[in-house]
Amino acid sequence: MASEKSRAIVLKVVEFSESSCIVTLFTEDFGKIGALAKGARRAKSSFEGALDLLALVRIVFLHKSSESLDLLTEARLERRFRSSQRDLARLYAGYYVAELLAELTEPGDPHRELFQAADATLFALDHDAPLPETVLRFELVALREAGHMPSLEECVVCGRPIQPEKRVAFGMTAGGVLCDDCRPGRRGVVNVSSGLLAALRQASASSLAQPPERAGQVSSAGEAATDFAFDPAIRGELRAVMNNYFAHLIGHRLRMSEYLGAPPNQQP
Ligand SMILES: [Zn+2]
Repeated sequence: MASEKSRAIVLKVVEFSESSCIVTLFTEDFGKIGALAKGARRAKSSFEGALDLLALVRIVFLHKSSESLDLLTEARLERRFRSSQRDLARLYAGYYVAELLAELTEPGDPHRELFQAADATLFALDHDAPLPETVLRFELVALREAGHMPSLEECVVCGRPIQPEKRVAFGMTAGGVLCDDCRPGRRGVVNVSSGLLAALRQASASSLAQPPERAGQVSSAGEAATDFAFDPAIRGELRAVMNNYFAHLIGHRLRMSEYLGAPPNQQP
């Protein structure tokens, strides 16, 4: 049994016994793991309260070769997800990031870029980056990493370029935009507005800046995350399309998705 080290994001913490927890972690080097944290619930433990939902931690663990749980031996806190204390909409967006990581990745399948995007997204959510844009950009990175990025420029069936001058057919199961010839007879097709398609294209072309603490930058995540912005009028349509797309992909609606679309005046 080898002792491994990695950075990780805490996705889930479940009480296991009076003193222990079972944690689900998305690690930078090993992908998603489930691990037993013995003694984590005691006041003095080698985890020092680091196993907080959505916290960025540095861990040491014993990697089991079989299907059984890994054994977490150390967790040191690098950054807590602070939105939980001040903004419910941002907290829900953080939970949504965790849900996407849990649903779209397999245990032991590392995705470094996805880890870095999740880290940057949680940091941006904590630093007043625009919420809908930050969430959408992470969704698109997650889809790309999982191999399910929808085709946005060309018809997903025949490859013909799609001009976004009018409403465009978007195939949920086909996996992207459809031309007039390829659309007939397909199931799960919705018409999306040209504004929505433009927002998806912009979001997929923009990149998430790494948190300044690592990149050595002075700029704030808020600044870094505003290289594109979409019309608030398309937000409802955007959430409907993205929620639908993930539901088709995963086989059920994401639990946190219903909390993402609330109009600003209904957000706490
Ligand atoms: Zn076509």
